[in-house]
Amino acid sequence: MEKIARCLCGGLRAIVTADPRSVTICHCTDCQRRSGVPLTSNAHYRTSDVRLDGPYKVYVRDGQEGRKVRHHFCPECGTTVFSQGEKFPGLCTVFVGAFADPDYPAPTASVFEETMHTWVILPPGIERYRQGRAPGALTPTTGGR
Ligand SMILES: [Zn+2]
Ligand SMILES: [Zn+2]
Repeated sequence: MEKIARCLCGGLRAIVTADPRSVTICHCTDCQRRSGVPLTSNAHYRTSDVRLDGPYKVYVRDGQEGRKVRHHFCPECGTTVFSQGEKFPGLCTVFVGAFADPDYPAPTASVFEETMHTWVILPPGIERYRQGRAPGALTPTTGGR
């Protein structure tokens, strides 16, 4: 099973060869500013299940507790397609919007609700977190569907 996420111009692609370990929506202010939208949907894959194709630049931002997050974006159109954080070793993130697939699996957790916009209505049954999930909450061998 192969799926392709890509940037707006198509120059940068992330090819995934397995199912995500977890799909979340995130309301943190870094996601809001990075994407320009009030909440993002993020698919967490084993790093070994994702291959990048095409040129990219990396923007490194500070995550929590001194950990770094590395956003990979297309130098031509600026879309961020992929990121890697030190919080969940062995895992990476592909941004769900880049798949442009209405049938992509729905998120099962909602994180950083402390900065959730007031009008957001969440799907029933979703796990909810005021901040992020703890380091180690997600590993390459847990989660998935
Ligand atoms: Zn592009
Ligand atoms: Zn976020």
